[in-house]
Amino acid sequence: MGYLTREFMDLILLIVAYFFTSIIIAILAVRKQLSWVRAILLSVFLTPFAGAIYLNRSSVHSWYEPRYKCSRCDFSFTEPLGECPHCKSEGHQVVLKKTMAKMT
Ligand SMILES: [Zn+2]
Repeated sequence: MGYLTREFMDLILLIVAYFFTSIIIAILAVRKQLSWVRAILLSVFLTPFAGAIYLNRSSVHSWYEPRYKCSRCDFSFTEPLGECPHCKSEGHQVVLKKTMAKMT
């Protein structure tokens, strides 16, 4: 009887820890302006590890995107064109500079 109660207590503790971790991941998702619903669903159904991976992946891939900026006309391109086509048509050879643009 005493053994069963301890097992039960361990299980409760495990579930509490599991949901607590899921809630922390949801809070982190909100701070990163991500979907906390998606974060909590991933954490509850696919363990909090999946939720943590979701947070990390999102911070790398959807927060910063490479932009190729022209220093002459200030125009940004999403593809690495090498030289600015606008300035090239005006007879200027301007090499585009790679920058990381923050996505909001
Ligand atoms: Zn240009």
